[in-house]
Amino acid sequence: MSTASRPAPSKAPSKAPSQAPSKAVPRPTPDTRPFWDGTAAGELRVQRCRACARHFFYPRPACPHCGSGDVAWVAVSGRATLHSYVINHRPAPGFEDEAPYVIAIVELEEGVRMMSNIVGVPADPEHLPLDLPLRAVFEPRGDVHLPLFTPAEAR
Ligand SMILES: [Zn+2]
Repeated sequence: MSTASRPAPSKAPSKAPSQAPSKAVPRPTPDTRPFWDGTAAGELRVQRCRACARHFFYPRPACPHCGSGDVAWVAVSGRATLHSYVINHRPAPGFEDEAPYVIAIVELEEGVRMMSNIVGVPADPEHLPLDLPLRAVFEPRGDVHLPLFTPAEAR
């Protein structure tokens, strides 16, 4: 119901027109740009501290574990497990066609957690055991590619 504050992505190719409101699209910032460059290349990238060798996410200029500013972006495997989730039956604007859908916290095998959606599986607890092995997939949306997760054994 609110007025969109940015134009709808109109140059998205091969997408059928829809009357539904556009889905929200993240806007890269200087701090998050390397993450979005990675997803556009089909790769999940997070930061890793050179001082203590631990990965972390969300993006920030210093290591949350040891405080070092000696951090670098690295590609990670995209393998993860299901840490926690909710099944959302009250979709955000633009997501009406997808409800119910799964909003999850996944834990990457590198030890960091991120919020995402689980796709390619029914939004039903029977199909979503905790610690379910997952892998990252990338969905183009607007000017970015969103990392989503799907069961590792799915195609
Ligand atoms: Zn560190």
